[in-house]
Amino acid sequence: MDPSITELRRMIDEAQRVVFFTGAGISTESGIPDFRSPGGIWTKMKPIDFSQFMSSPEARRETWRRRFATDETMRKAEPNRGHRAVAALINRGKASAVITQNIDGLHQASGVPANRVIELHGNTTYAHCLDCGQRYEIIDVREEFERTGEPPNCNACGGFVKTATVSFGQSMPPAAMIRAEEETLAADLFIAIGSSLVVYPAAGFPEMAARNGTRLVILNREPTGLDPYADLVLHREIGETLGEAIGNN
Ligand SMILES: [Zn+2]
Repeated sequence: MDPSITELRRMIDEAQRVVFFTGAGISTESGIPDFRSPGGIWTKMKPIDFSQFMSSPEARRETWRRRFATDETMRKAEPNRGHRAVAALINRGKASAVITQNIDGLHQASGVPANRVIELHGNTTYAHCLDCGQRYEIIDVREEFERTGEPPNCNACGGFVKTATVSFGQSMPPAAMIRAEEETLAADLFIAIGSSLVVYPAAGFPEMAARNGTRLVILNREPTGLDPYADLVLHREIGETLGEAIGNN
């Protein structure tokens, strides 16, 4: 076994309370593209920010067209070995939570209880009314959109229906931010996985762990800005590395 994986295994064994932090890299191994990477969708199309969504019916239509364009990829994606390793440590009680920048719901799909997943950027696998919070399923929204050509409004209150994600220009969900901070400060081992650690405020959590004196592990294929502050850095494939360190398939 690679010595860095042996070291990761030892650090996990010694820890009392692990917290995971995950970014796009863990899900690219499930076939979900990293929208921010070179050639990714956000480098080709200008993002629609939240104020445009709220003020323009055409921006709302375009937002939904883009979401439906990714629908097949999202529905086909299944958790990979990396997600399963995270789930194994949480279900053993060794890790208390996973803070994620991902919106794909794959941590829940891999068996992590929903209340252990802290979604900083929300979730794109369902939609909700921005006014009353009523939940809507993507498949129903799509059927209505294809029938009427109009962006969906809430049946209950008439508010705008949007995927349950945090858009550019939309404020971060306060409850998730508070919980992520509490979990970060309570951890004695913080493992950041598959994130370039450049998108703030999300990337502030591994930074907070490092400042707090918490042991920090960074597992990412490419170097990150926080590598110099980490106790262990692994530039490796995620599923294979976590699977070997945690002993699952
Ligand atoms: Zn509503």
